[in-house]
Amino acid sequence: MRKYKIAVMPGDGIGPEVVKQAVKVLDKVGTKCGFLLEYCYADIGGVAIDKTGEPLPEETVQICKGSDAVLLGAVGGYKWDDLPGDKRPEAGLLGIRSKLELFANYRPAVIYQPLRDASPLKDRITRDGLDILVLRELTGGIYFGEKKRFIDDQGFAVAFDTMIYRKFEVERIARLAFEAARLRNGKVTSVDKANVLEVSRLWREIVIEVARDYPDIELNHMFVDNAAMQLVIHPEQFDVIVTGNMFGDILSDEASMLTGSIGMLPSASLGSGSLGLYEPVHGSAPDIAGQNKANPLAAILSVAMMLRYSFKLEQASKMIEDAVLQVLNDGQMTGDIATKEAKVIGCEEMGDAVAERI
Ligand code: NAD
Repeated sequence: MRKYKIAVMPGDGIGPEVVKQAVKVLDKVGTKCGFLLEYCYADIGGVAIDKTGEPLPEETVQICKGSDAVLLGAVGGYKWDDLPGDKRPEAGLLGIRSKLELFANYRPAVIYQPLRDASPLKDRITRDGLDILVLRELTGGIYFGEKKRFIDDQGFAVAFDTMIYRKFEVERIARLAFEAARLRNGKVTSVDKANVLEVSRLWREIVIEVARDYPDIELNHMFVDNAAMQLVIHPEQFDVIVTGNMFGDILSDEASMLTGSIGMLPSASLGSGSLGLYEPVHGSAPDIAGQNKANPLAAILSVAMMLRYSFKLEQASKMIEDAVLQVLNDGQMTGDIATKEAKVIGCEEMGDAVAERI
């Protein structure tokens, strides 16, 4: 029987609560579909600082590197807010992404029919639902180019950042976008600013080159300013959006907010192999931690992504997504997403409800 080794980093605040439910659901799918799961727990963030003084202990990095996939809850909390930047819990998060060389960030934005009212968009726009995947390049572009501050010879303060992409960096993210579209609705929109930026012109050329290997996938290009508008006017036109680091940072937040429910947003970060890091988009929500109020669906949907992207178990992944939709259709919701008619349930009960429907 195939066995998968998963590094689990529950982290801080509601992290351990939501991760527990995700593991519960994963176990159920494993039993149903006939694969084994082995979990290796590791510390990250505030809990790691308390134990070792470091937000990302070396032992945690080694456990993650030795696994088939990594599941992360959330990090951070009031207790560690006064620590210097590189010692804060969030440094653990950035650290693990870079240590595992994860260059592609997958952020789906899905509006579930029973939660349509939570979307800030008008009903006529979300009537047919919404299902977009934003694929953001994570380790290149302007966030990692040369940057400097100086005083010029006329005494003015000056600063610059450099947007830089190498061919291989664009090629590999483009390839992932086409592969992802194959598992979805067969359409890729590459977002750039090719009317102004040389980097974007190179980006576009390379995406077109890679597209030749995917004749079954429809490709179009869009300038980033237009993409920001289209997301709120005609979001239904998108399937997979692929873009660079900074544009992706902004557009993935915009797309996910169209759903209106932070507790429902999963994410994945992958590198060149199958090892991926899967985590809910939300933070550690210290205001509700330990009260059984957290919505575990973002964490649960993150393990569905793990099954799809790291283990290539599409059917098992779909079983989780279908179970989540069923629970919502049955009117069971946590407080953060509850509609007027819903029966409000806690974090633990939500995990049970999803597991029962698998
Ligand atoms: P947050 O996402 O933790 O919380 C924002 C609001 O959304 C809060 O009111 C919270 O109660 C609610 N919320 C979030 N997730 C929820 C869930 N699953 N179910 C129900 N309600 C939920 O963001 P924040 O308050 O800005 O940050 C809190 C801490 O988390 C900070 O220390 C921050 O640095 C950290 N943080 C961590 C991550 C991460 O680990 N990936 C991401 C963002 C913030």
